[in-house]
Amino acid sequence: MIRRYLRGSGRVLASVFVASVVWLLFDMAALRLSINDVNSKLLKEQVIRERQLFKQQSRKDVVKKGDQSDGNSPLNSLNKVAKVYRQGVQNPPENHGDRFPEVIQPNHVLFKDKQGAALQNVTVVMQEERNLHVNGIQVDKSKLIDDSNEVMGNKGLSDIARVTPGVQDGKGVPSSASTKGLHKSDDLQNFAAKTESKTNAKIHEELFAKETHPADKSSKPNGDLNANEVINRTEDKQAGMITQRFSKVTKETPSPAIKLQAGEGTRGNATTVIKAGVHKVLSLDVTQSPRDSNAVGQYGQAAHVASEEDADVKKRWDEGHFNVYLSDKIPVDRAIPDTRPEMCAHNLVHNDLPSTSVIFCFVDEVWSTLLRSVHSVLNRSPPHLLKDIILVDDFSTKDYLKEPLDTYMSQFPKVRIIRLKERQGLIRARLAGAAVAEGEVLTFLDSHIECNVGWLEPLLERIYQDRKKVPCPVIEVISDKDMSYMLVDNFQRGVFKWPLVFGWSPLPEEYIKKHNITISDPIRCPVMAGGLFSIDRQYFYELGAYDPGLEVWGGENMEISFKIWMCGGEIEILPCSRVGHIFRGQNPYSFPKDRQKTVERNLARVAEVWLDEYKVLFYGHGYQHLLDKNVIDIGNLTEQIELRKRLQCKNFNWYLKNVYPDMDAPLVKAKGLMFNVGLRKCLTMWKNFLIFDMCNLSKQTQLFNYTWMRQISQKDVCIAPQGKDSSYTLQPCNDTNTELRWSHKSSNAALENHLISEFLPYMCLEAMPRDDSLQLNACEPKNAFQKWQFTQYLAH
Ligand code: UDP
Ligand code: MN
Repeated sequence: MIRRYLRGSGRVLASVFVASVVWLLFDMAALRLSINDVNSKLLKEQVIRERQLFKQQSRKDVVKKGDQSDGNSPLNSLNKVAKVYRQGVQNPPENHGDRFPEVIQPNHVLFKDKQGAALQNVTVVMQEERNLHVNGIQVDKSKLIDDSNEVMGNKGLSDIARVTPGVQDGKGVPSSASTKGLHKSDDLQNFAAKTESKTNAKIHEELFAKETHPADKSSKPNGDLNANEVINRTEDKQAGMITQRFSKVTKETPSPAIKLQAGEGTRGNATTVIKAGVHKVLSLDVTQSPRDSNAVGQYGQAAHVASEEDADVKKRWDEGHFNVYLSDKIPVDRAIPDTRPEMCAHNLVHNDLPSTSVIFCFVDEVWSTLLRSVHSVLNRSPPHLLKDIILVDDFSTKDYLKEPLDTYMSQFPKVRIIRLKERQGLIRARLAGAAVAEGEVLTFLDSHIECNVGWLEPLLERIYQDRKKVPCPVIEVISDKDMSYMLVDNFQRGVFKWPLVFGWSPLPEEYIKKHNITISDPIRCPVMAGGLFSIDRQYFYELGAYDPGLEVWGGENMEISFKIWMCGGEIEILPCSRVGHIFRGQNPYSFPKDRQKTVERNLARVAEVWLDEYKVLFYGHGYQHLLDKNVIDIGNLTEQIELRKRLQCKNFNWYLKNVYPDMDAPLVKAKGLMFNVGLRKCLTMWKNFLIFDMCNLSKQTQLFNYTWMRQISQKDVCIAPQGKDSSYTLQPCNDTNTELRWSHKSSNAALENHLISEFLPYMCLEAMPRDDSLQLNACEPKNAFQKWQFTQYLAH
């Protein structure tokens, strides 16, 4: 009977198979049709080729000039400058030795995940510029990473730094020294000439010349076009004969879906459904006016000011904590090199991607950088995907950000300006922007950025595939000194180290090799840098948006990262989406309260809501003063805690194990037996006393913890100095009680193995050989009876 059933089901399967093949053929035909429609003869391809030429030439230039990094080169300055990006605290709090380890070197365990499954997995690989090969639908199964925890080598986090990802050697735009050579180079001259005439004027003309807009009859930047139509117009015009509207093509595509094997997209089963109706990522870069190839900083080149202008540079530096003087000389619509990995330009994305609102919050932003940010979005985003651009003025004091900004932006109907009546800080300003946003996706950007070509569609595609994915572009570096655009190292992901300090850490090389991860694959990211990301608008609100109790700046990237991961979402960095950002040495705006206190308070809120039992690691790395409610009021957390319950989020232990397993997070600093070096016996709890006995690991009464709050505890009981004489007491443990704290293995080398009371200065725990009792006596470096060893040290 089983055999008959199998035979029967075999027939069914066979007919299903035949039907699928037929559908597949239909689908591919449809796919080919729409791809050709969308991409045929697009001028953008010309632009890409030109840009490639420029890129190659730029690289050649850099190589030729060799490593010219003198102390003033952007590469060197960068490392210094970028140190503060989203790091949380600029200067580590004083008075504790162990709080800011320079480098974390935990055991490197990397993501248990299918992370290698990348955009390509849902991408139809194009073998030629315009022709889709039917067998080009590829699934790279090698990128499907198994579910087991991957134990990494020891390299991963060793180069964690509180800085932006490093700049790639010899890549990106030419270094300062080669800038001069740029205009001498024939190829580049050509590039410049072509780019000027084709990229800007012609493209613009072709895209917009015949279009009129009620607000302005002259040629318009694409931000002014109605949603839906620019691609249609371009294609219509260039393909000549195509009469179908883009949206129509999308809608009328035959319904059966192509099912691709892919690791991403739908969690839990390895199938991603691709609806027919895709096109090659648009690499638009339109501008209102022809680009002047000789303009300062054009093509993302390093720019320099003559030495007699140094004083001007200095004078204006503090307006933005970067070279404001120079920025003002650079065109607001300058071209930048396309730094995407080669294959990115060939990726396909869906025709019916969700639209986005781009939200820029700013307080006293520099005019030219704010404008350049907005222009980069207008010029390089497919208009039908750009619902609106919302500028949230967080109570700026500068006059130019008032009426002049209104006037300037009035030429772009998509740009809306919201003005907050009092300073709200970045977090609440973003919430205000999100509240009025009309796009299906929210894209948050800092107000001193430049979006690169093709930056938007990969972000939206990811959300289209799974609305709980929160994609971030690669954040590239715009030098604060010479405003050059530099591409950053590959395979960087955002992580944190204690006490919740943001940093970058590359995926280890062995891991990349083992799983065949390419430079364009999405990178799972335990913590986002914070400034630049896209999120499904509804999902953002389902997650409770940001904690509105966070003030001004800092910690919000940790909050949203933990929330996303622990409550069912994922954060990724997409190498095919790239946005430059000016990393500044300091915040150029004032903090209504003390900067450090503000950030600490924000982080404490995050720790209290999200870290569970791991919050002691946060406090234990230099923030124990935040436990004292008299010192700091972190505000009411009830709503945040309830939100976490309501969303049934996973706990922090799950996050560490599954999202950031290479993070070292022992819950205590040391544990096990407390061996006294002089007495050669172990401390033992006996009734309500402490005595010494032969060491025996299996005796529970001999097992103690040395905690992050530097307490010596057994279960809920902690050792404390008695105060009056040399005796001790046992008290209920309490993280805020400073009497219970003991220094051990601290920076005091002479007393390294001692247990020094932090409450009674210079008093140490000592074993008394005459009656095997415990006392507190004045610390003596050489006294072996004051030296202790725990069985296991988990952290320093
Ligand atoms: N911002 C704001 N209000 C504030 C602080 C910052 O609107 O109180 C804006 C700021 O203008 C910028 C963004 O938030 O566009 C991120 O701030 P910043 O660039 O200083 O952060 P960083 O890049 O240094 O992390
Ligand atoms: Mn910024």
